[in-house]
Amino acid sequence: MQKKEEIAYFSMEVGIDSRIPTYSGGLGILAGDTLRSCADIGAPIVGITLMNNKGYFFQKLDDQGNQIEIPVEWSIDDFMELENINISIPVEGRKIKVQVWKYLVTGITGCQIPIYFLDTNVKENSEYDREITYFLYGGDEKYRLYQEIILGIGGVLVLDALGYKNIKKYHMNEGHSSLLVLELIKKENEKFGDRTTEEIIRSVRNKCIFTTHTPIQSAHDKFSISLVKEVLGGYIGNNEIDKICQNGVLNMTLLALNNSLYINGVSKKQQKVSSSMFPGYPIDSISNGVHHIFWTSKSFRKLFDKYASNWRVDPSYLRHATLVPRREIMDAHLKSKRELLDFVNTKKNIGMDIDIFTIGFARRITKYKRFDLLFNDIEKLKDIALNTFPIQIILAGKSHPKDFDGKRTIKNIYNIINDLSDHIKIVFLENYDIEIAKLITSGVDVWLNTPQVPNEASGTSGMKASLNGVPSLSILDGWWIDGHIEDVTGWKIESAPIKNVAADTNNFIGSNSIYSKLESVILPMFYSNKKKWTKIMRYTISFNGSFFNSKRMLQQYMLKAYSI
Ligand SMILES: *Cc1c(COP(=O)(O)O)cnc(C)c1O
Repeated sequence: MQKKEEIAYFSMEVGIDSRIPTYSGGLGILAGDTLRSCADIGAPIVGITLMNNKGYFFQKLDDQGNQIEIPVEWSIDDFMELENINISIPVEGRKIKVQVWKYLVTGITGCQIPIYFLDTNVKENSEYDREITYFLYGGDEKYRLYQEIILGIGGVLVLDALGYKNIKKYHMNEGHSSLLVLELIKKENEKFGDRTTEEIIRSVRNKCIFTTHTPIQSAHDKFSISLVKEVLGGYIGNNEIDKICQNGVLNMTLLALNNSLYINGVSKKQQKVSSSMFPGYPIDSISNGVHHIFWTSKSFRKLFDKYASNWRVDPSYLRHATLVPRREIMDAHLKSKRELLDFVNTKKNIGMDIDIFTIGFARRITKYKRFDLLFNDIEKLKDIALNTFPIQIILAGKSHPKDFDGKRTIKNIYNIINDLSDHIKIVFLENYDIEIAKLITSGVDVWLNTPQVPNEASGTSGMKASLNGVPSLSILDGWWIDGHIEDVTGWKIESAPIKNVAADTNNFIGSNSIYSKLESVILPMFYSNKKKWTKIMRYTISFNGSFFNSKRMLQQYMLKAYSI
């Protein structure tokens, strides 16, 4: 049967449910939130992603603070149904079989949209081929290329086999899926052999949309041309491969940039940074958002139902948060905080106190995010906590298994937590995932974010916090440039662009700015001016919750990208 869906959304990772371990961080969560909003409005869209039979990994810390990565045991058929199709992809003179699982996302009015998970773990495949879809971002360069072949080329073949004959737009959520361009060109060639190459390329380009998510060069996938030819030469043809490579390298970002009609970054700031990295490409911006219901705690959902009754259908109504009595905002917050602290105290037996100002910070841990900036001057931090106002701190985050800097940072923080344990209660929650993210972003009193300018493409945890009335204390980069109003939605942390000052100096500037804002503005207000504090909580919701949500984001994609 021919299916009506017109947009195919490709993403290497999708974070749709904390029990489905097919995400590592912001990119996957964004994909999940996007597809949730699609289901809410019944958008004619289908999601395509990879299965990760063993997940990203389950994180544990040993008693030295070393991150231990444990494969995730989970059973796919608790959540998804196997489709009755099989495709195979010819590589290196053999065929890799791919099976397909369907997961249905249900929206607020009951509409459902499918996400297809591509899985090579079938018995006809060799052991090596079965493992291609075991680990998200696992293995070596070749393993990654195989994964991206399954996602990009396999994804197009799967849509065909499932009867989606009417796809008008292929949206690449980051460059991992850009090999889909090659499959589309191949299909057009086979179908319209009489067209010129130029016409074919133009017609493919009209169908492709590319969202770039990071200004960090090393995060853009690149493969050597010899590897690509070895693996794909027989299927795509060496001539075609030569055409898409530059200086002996296949750059997945350039492949997507060169073949997309519409290109966007995920914040105003990242649009600028990406445009200077890739001069000549028309890069637009659509700011990220988070799913307004999914990331709002139970107590705030109740409050919004009462005071902004249309907010579930249209989160722009959250601007009415300014009408909520301050006491009710505080009560709702204390319920979320209680839930978080119960979780923390049960896990860590640390006795965190609901009356104490609580700082939250949780992210993928990698160098530019400067996870340890808050601890740059431990004596100063201790001095604030002991001699001005008490604080407690909740941290979480995973580091990629091969990110040795990130893992050193975790170990370092682990030691700091132990050293400070007589003075400040600090916990590091293991295995940061969607459930923990929901608890922390809604239950702390302030959300901290300390990236190195200009590396933050957007950042989304602060948006989750906003929906729950939690203001941010953040470096002005990514989304916070647009979400920040000093003393109204939160506070900025000073910083200098890395190219102007040495990293140490910049860390000094940033950490001192955190300490002085805490000491002179934030803590006094929290402890002695609840009236002003609760006003800030309200503004946080009405300015930022009403805007930085995935419904508004999706509407912009529909207008600017899907309907051109
Ligand atoms: C939201 C989220 C992220 C991404 O947060 P950023 O602020 O964009 O870095 C990463 N991991 C989990 C589990 C999340 O929920």
